[in-house]
Amino acid sequence: MKGLIQDQPLLISSLISYAGLYHGEVEIVSRTVEGPIHRYGYREVQRRSRQVAEALLSLGVKPGDRIATLAWNGFRHLELYFGISGLGAVLHTINPRLFPEQIVYIANHAEDIYLFLDLTFVPQVESIAQELKSVKGFVVMTDEEHMPRTSLPRVMCYESLIGEQKGEYAWPKFDEQTASSLCYTSGTTGNPKGVLYSHRSTVLHSYCVCSVDGLGLSGSDTVMPIVPMFHANAWGNPYGAAMCGAKMVFPGEKMDGQSIFELLDQEKVTLTLAVPTVWLMLLQYLRETGRKLPFLKRVVIGGSAPPKSMIRTFEEEYGVQVYHGWGMTEMSPLGTVGNLKLKHQGLPYEERMNIKSKQGRAIYGVDLKIVDAQGNELARDGKAFGPLLVRGPWIASGYFKGEGGGIIDDEGWFDTGDVATLDPDGYMQITDRAKDVIKSGGEWISSIDLENDVMGHPGVAEAAVIGVPHPKWDERPLLLVVRNEGVEISKEELLDYLRKRVAKWQVPDDVVFVDELPHTATGKLLKSKLREDYKNFKLP
Ligand code: AMP
Repeated sequence: MKGLIQDQPLLISSLISYAGLYHGEVEIVSRTVEGPIHRYGYREVQRRSRQVAEALLSLGVKPGDRIATLAWNGFRHLELYFGISGLGAVLHTINPRLFPEQIVYIANHAEDIYLFLDLTFVPQVESIAQELKSVKGFVVMTDEEHMPRTSLPRVMCYESLIGEQKGEYAWPKFDEQTASSLCYTSGTTGNPKGVLYSHRSTVLHSYCVCSVDGLGLSGSDTVMPIVPMFHANAWGNPYGAAMCGAKMVFPGEKMDGQSIFELLDQEKVTLTLAVPTVWLMLLQYLRETGRKLPFLKRVVIGGSAPPKSMIRTFEEEYGVQVYHGWGMTEMSPLGTVGNLKLKHQGLPYEERMNIKSKQGRAIYGVDLKIVDAQGNELARDGKAFGPLLVRGPWIASGYFKGEGGGIIDDEGWFDTGDVATLDPDGYMQITDRAKDVIKSGGEWISSIDLENDVMGHPGVAEAAVIGVPHPKWDERPLLLVVRNEGVEISKEELLDYLRKRVAKWQVPDDVVFVDELPHTATGKLLKSKLREDYKNFKLP
């Protein structure tokens, strides 16, 4: 027997319709590429995203067509989020930090037919425009006054394009499983692969963004997603903010400590989200200037593991709660969030810190399990570790155009490529990326654990641990360190520091001081490059 409940499709357009109607005055504040701060309300977002849809239809765009963006977090990008998906086309957010040849590959693979770009990226796109085979036109996301002289062919100005439209478009209804947006993973090996989200997966994920044990976003928040809108849809925040009518602040291209501080302070931001590198810059600025964060209540840190010292600094020095989250582009991206349970409330701070520094707790909607090499499920005891598998209604079932073949097993499990422990309460701790684990004499050494420990040393700005070939042990750990400016630390001092914290056989064999470490386009340590660079390194 079927239930007698209406079958309304879960569509992205319903999010902006709701926000426009009930939170019309709530502000979206953007630091623009042109310079000034721009502000308006959800009612305007709703009208202008309708204009975007009308403009695209007038250009001949049809449902299912891919429309690319190369843009920072800002109000026009938000309008494209709703306008493109709302009409049934696919928003393809491209990461501008990728190499030009990767951008060409991605745009051609996706067969993007229009490309919307921020002013910042005009020179970059000019240099590759001829290679973008499917692109029929380029739209610079600015007004006539700021339109640059450009060699881009078939170029249009965003404000002129949408300005001609009425903004009365009635959002169409269609199957909720329809593709809504596309985001390529910045894989460290092989070509990037496209994750194709649906309207349904996006709306369900938004409920999670707004649930208290998810990101806890609500209509009484001011949220600033610093995580880019080209990185797993800014972790779903633009959609979640519309779902609950949260005020939203977009930092544009300026992510240095001072610029971020100014927005946090002036706009009274209560919740903000970014990868650890961004927080390092902010914390350094706060230290240097003595500024405080009186309005900020919660910081979400994800994308890579924050050092414990970072969590501690936010909480102890600035009174800001830290939520450590984990996820992947393939997971929309929320997988786990580090909220505490009732039973943890009275625990001593150190014990709460230990829980908080794990990658987070299972949330409803994401099934997690860890397995051994044969695929048998391992114990949820917080000790056993193995490949982490996930499944759920906002997790990818395959990559765009079938790249990479089948990615889920018969029961729907997707192998994240992470190695983790799970405890009985559902807290997950990543011990490593499967590729980064150091295999020393049959034992596994977690590079992440070592990095986390080293980062606790006040002289260390950033650290990476990689395995280098060893004749006897197969692999041994090598520690690469970027020192804090003006600080002198020796190799022996660092190794001694580690000897007090980890088992003897896990202590790296050597330390190399470097000026900087390589990162991927989403800010993660690029360990494949380090392994390549140091593959002939002679350990003492
Ligand atoms: P991406 O798809 O670019 O977001 O990358 C996803 C990967 O980033 C995950 O599979 C993890 O390896 C890593 N990652 C994400 N969040 C965390 C975290 N909190 N701690 C450690 N690694 C993380």
